[in-house]
Amino acid sequence: MTETQPTIPGGTDLEKLVNRSRMLGADKTLVVHGGGNTSSKTRERDHLGRERDVLRVKGSGTDLKTIGADGFPGLYLDELLPLREREAMSDEDMVAYLARCMVEPGSRNPSIETLLHAFLRARHVDHTHADAICVLTNTPEGQRHVHAALGDDVAIVPYSRPGFGLARDVAQLAGSSAVVLAWHGLVTWGDTHEESYQRTINLVQRAEAYLAQFPASAPVVREDLSQEQVEALLLELRGILSRDGRRILHVDRSQRAIADRNDIDAVAARRGTPDHMLRIGTKSLPLHDLSRVAEEIAAFEEKYLGYVARHQHLLPAGLNAMSSLPRIILVPGLGVVATGPDAKTTKMNAEISARSHSVTARALDAFGAVDWLSEDEVFAFDYWPLELRKLQTAPSPRPLSGHVVLLGGADNGYAPHVAQRLAADGAHLVLIGSDAAQLEQVQSALPAGISLVAGSYPVAEAIRAFGGLDVLVALAPVEGTVLANFTVAMHRQGLDGVLVGVRSGEETALRDVSELAGVRRNDVAIADDADPSLVAESIAFLASSRSSGTRGVTLPVG
Ligand SMILES: [Zn+2]
Repeated sequence: MTETQPTIPGGTDLEKLVNRSRMLGADKTLVVHGGGNTSSKTRERDHLGRERDVLRVKGSGTDLKTIGADGFPGLYLDELLPLREREAMSDEDMVAYLARCMVEPGSRNPSIETLLHAFLRARHVDHTHADAICVLTNTPEGQRHVHAALGDDVAIVPYSRPGFGLARDVAQLAGSSAVVLAWHGLVTWGDTHEESYQRTINLVQRAEAYLAQFPASAPVVREDLSQEQVEALLLELRGILSRDGRRILHVDRSQRAIADRNDIDAVAARRGTPDHMLRIGTKSLPLHDLSRVAEEIAAFEEKYLGYVARHQHLLPAGLNAMSSLPRIILVPGLGVVATGPDAKTTKMNAEISARSHSVTARALDAFGAVDWLSEDEVFAFDYWPLELRKLQTAPSPRPLSGHVVLLGGADNGYAPHVAQRLAADGAHLVLIGSDAAQLEQVQSALPAGISLVAGSYPVAEAIRAFGGLDVLVALAPVEGTVLANFTVAMHRQGLDGVLVGVRSGEETALRDVSELAGVRRNDVAIADDADPSLVAESIAFLASSRSSGTRGVTLPVG
């Protein structure tokens, strides 16, 4: 132990494993959003009271940054180790086998990389997708750079998709001090938690020190896009990217330097580690000409469909091609525009793309050339049946998933009920009103990150925060300029919009609104003693496509 080596807190192995994992997960340059996995081998009593060796390994669908003890399913090691004698095993057989070795029946599925952890004899194993390591491997002479940076006692495994074969390959290199997985990441181990953790940190530091000797390319700075250009771009993009369902957009200005580079085509064409492809697709779209957005997306889609067609024979039975639309767009003068079905996923996608783009850009800077998986390997990962099955079993989107709703009169009495009901349907909300305290209260009851309290320009604020808008609900009269801007924005997106107004007596909150092309308008008439939850339900119905055939009606409530 060196003096700088931190002690990992915790009274038990499981507590230390949780803390070790969170320490790795806290550093985005090591892993992001579900990437990587960790494990410890412990002694536990089974249901018959026998002491047995148990592998505690990261469960599928967990995140190292936030993982807790329940994120580590246990597997009986004496049942896993006989698999070392096998020559090969399919993903399906492996998953079925692992399910029979669980300590707690019904616990979450263990990581697909479970056997890699089981086959290494060391008590503690850490696997990360460290940026600095991927920079070393994602270049034509990767092997030479890995040894020059990390030493000859670190072994390199050629690329293969995670599973039984990779676990066997790594196990054969247990005599080395660590293993680098080509185009993928790093595996370290140790007899103590600290040893395994520190090994990762030390190797990453060595990789960084090695890379620091290569001069970075001179930064290119392009002219800033104006606010008007950004808003127009977001509306146009959102209209096109919402073809398969409404999308939330997020602008990541932290990637401005990457987006301004001369070689964005090369940066956009690869990922830092294959895992990223599952979230952000195989490639980003480098946008070259703001006046040809639709054409550039069409060309991107044509290339994607060509790639799918070339590998059609490898497409597992019963699976269709995924959407050909880009999920990440590099925009010179701005940064990155990321898309997703909700604000949280969209921001995650932006962060994942930042890692991928940075790894590729750094490899280009240091070595002048990048190397990446063959197209066959990309396809085998992109259409990995094991991962696609997870998508197929995912719940279907909510009625207002990816929708942005302007809520006028968000400070009135019905607003808390309406806002929460719309949010439950998946809506993102822009709250308009004058009573700041009341607006804040409405917002505080909503899930984090899906709403904003509007200032003077609600439509522009909606575009900047979420990429566009879909619905205007007026619980109270809304300013004419807001209505006018809403209409213009809907037109620019080329998407159908919805207006819902509240009527009490002869008064309507949507005065002077005539029939607008592409905008469906209905009202609710609220009786004095109406139950607020029924008001909210009626508005949610009229705001969503569940009422798509309904226009020009007034729905009485109460
Ligand atoms: Zn991995």
